[in-house]
Amino acid sequence: MNHASAAPPRPAGTDAPLRWRPGLAALGEAFYTRVAPTPLPDPYWVARDGQVAALLGLPTHWMDGAQALAAFSGNALLPGSDPIAMVYGGHQFGVWAGQLGDGRALLLGETAAGQQLQLKGSGRTPYSRGADGRAVLRSSIREYLASGALHGLGIPTTRALCITGSPAPVRRETVETAAVVTRVAPSFIRFGHFEFFAWRRQTEALRQLANHVIGRHYPECLAQPHPYAALLQTVSERTARLIAQWQAAGFMHGVMNTDNMSILGLTLDYGPFQFMDAFDVHHICNHSDQFGRYAYDQQPDVGHWNVACLARALLPLIEDVPAAQAAIASYPAVFRASYLACMRAKLGLDGTCEGDEAHIDALLRLLDGAHVDYPIFWRRLSHAVAQGNFTPVRDLFLDRAAWDAWKLSFQELLARSGKAQNPDLMLKSNPKYVLRNYLAEHAIRDAKLGDFGTLQSLHAVLARPFDEHPDHDAWAGFPPDWASSLTLSCSS
Ligand code: AMP
Ligand code: MG
Repeated sequence: MNHASAAPPRPAGTDAPLRWRPGLAALGEAFYTRVAPTPLPDPYWVARDGQVAALLGLPTHWMDGAQALAAFSGNALLPGSDPIAMVYGGHQFGVWAGQLGDGRALLLGETAAGQQLQLKGSGRTPYSRGADGRAVLRSSIREYLASGALHGLGIPTTRALCITGSPAPVRRETVETAAVVTRVAPSFIRFGHFEFFAWRRQTEALRQLANHVIGRHYPECLAQPHPYAALLQTVSERTARLIAQWQAAGFMHGVMNTDNMSILGLTLDYGPFQFMDAFDVHHICNHSDQFGRYAYDQQPDVGHWNVACLARALLPLIEDVPAAQAAIASYPAVFRASYLACMRAKLGLDGTCEGDEAHIDALLRLLDGAHVDYPIFWRRLSHAVAQGNFTPVRDLFLDRAAWDAWKLSFQELLARSGKAQNPDLMLKSNPKYVLRNYLAEHAIRDAKLGDFGTLQSLHAVLARPFDEHPDHDAWAGFPPDWASSLTLSCSS
């Protein structure tokens, strides 16, 4: 069904629930096209995140009302909103893809408090490249759950305010139904925005974009002798730290193309992502990723490669080439230090102790060799340290002797350095609840039948993943056998 011919959106009442400030629209039309959302028939609520609504200052009674449903399904415009679709480019699977852009996303505007609101799935734009501009309910639920889950884990991410659904059919491998996610972030600018203007040799537009990002998000760079090199350095560090957190959490993004890399170091554009079940460093979560470019163990290097792409794009602005090279070169050390800090916390170590690095690496090799369930291992270990009973951890290994040897060696290390594991730190660093694929699948199956209860409960549990939530113990167990047959592609 083509809804492009439906009536254009009307203003969503006269109440102004949000105050806007000039945002990216002020940059000028080289950066975007004004596009109104394409209305969807018979919109309905799927989910709303009260925390994100509060972040925006949106009152609960307003979020419950018809004006909100109309605005966040693309059927009406919020007063003062002037939606735009932005142009960007990107390297997809290592190959320059040329012009991309918001093909199904629209930036509604930027609030006075500096949060941008974006509809995803709100219809075609000049950047849709022949696609339908829509998103399906399944992928919208995955994005909503994942952004909530990463935020709950303390990993930087775009947020999701709500999902609206519609019975409008959307064709993917099968016919599904449409949904719109409203995303929130201080900025949705990607590495690919810079790459686009560098590719077009539009150096002044490139400079304008860099000045905008520095002015809005990295004003400290202005105090540096070479602000554009400082920008690159900061983004390199943020990216390294983000991916360190992904690795420690066992999170795989699935499509780390440069157009999916946030200039703020946020997790952005959830597609075929996955949290690790049985630990396998070579795991590929994206079924379309034939050669494993974005496999779990490749993510740190891909982040580095993507930073190099950003560096190349910024080069026309960076007078100081050695500084740019230094920004790229610093990535591996920042990644490693951040990764080790995350892993030390998982092991309950308050600081460093000599030899812990080798023990961390050896432990990960052990988990990989035995394909031990990643979240369950860490949570059981946290309880084992708290209670002094390691049997439930040992039971996870077929080769018990290998585990015993690692444990003994680690205990000797602790004794030598006079350190002890802190079980409270471990329980705050090793979540009981993780958004495993099969859990998302449960929420999706129920939602397709019109029952949003599982989605709501799962989202609430994942917002506080380190808490016990005894009513939901079943979600903290091993995945069922059918979980390993779930396949995820880029189709969304
Ligand atoms: P992604 O793989 O989701 O990061 O998307 C890559 C590019 O394809 C972006 O420019 C998207 O806006 C665009 N895109 C993906 N799906 C659609 C769709 N259904 N309609 C229009 N554009 C899309
Ligand atoms: Mg994308």
